[in-house]
Amino acid sequence: MYGSHKCPTAKGKLISQSDGSRGYTVKSCYDWLRDKKLQIDWHKAVWCNMALPKHSFIAWLISNRALQLKDKLARLQISQDDLCCLCQSAFETHQHLSEDCHFCKSLLCGASTWLSSDFTQRNILHVINRKRWSSVRKKLCTAAVLACWYTIWIQRNSARLEGIVTRPELVIQQIRRMIVCRFNECKPRVVSPKDRIWFC
Ligand SMILES: [Zn+2]
Repeated sequence: MYGSHKCPTAKGKLISQSDGSRGYTVKSCYDWLRDKKLQIDWHKAVWCNMALPKHSFIAWLISNRALQLKDKLARLQISQDDLCCLCQSAFETHQHLSEDCHFCKSLLCGASTWLSSDFTQRNILHVINRKRWSSVRKKLCTAAVLACWYTIWIQRNSARLEGIVTRPELVIQQIRRMIVCRFNECKPRVVSPKDRIWFC
């Protein structure tokens, strides 16, 4: 309804910068005024029902660059230390923690091997979303990636606060148990023979 109304001309200067191609409408003005976020295609993946809610929450924070990491604290001059707690060899950023850190790579590599799927590419949720896999396989792979990210955050905090990091091989086993458990709780009534052979 709003889209068909004309904007008041009192804000003509503002409106003239919105979208001249369709004339001055409330909709074009509103679209111009609001802070348009980047269009994303992984939002469904982050809130996938096969993932545990706590995993989804941390993935959502990572995706929005909202974790309180050392790079932010250093930028605010709260701390001088900006090195990754897990590898001590690079700045602790969201990009590093969720893709580049060797600890993260070890976990994603372990999950890749277990699920016979490649998780080593960048923007992995986007990649999974575009695969021509069954819905069950996409959800399980997504849940595994989110579990890896959650565990990285837990291990990072453990490293920072207690100086303890669990070996990636052990962490992968915990992730496997979590995903299998979740699958048994949330699996659809019918799982195709192909998916059953792949996962079980
Ligand atoms: Zn690191």
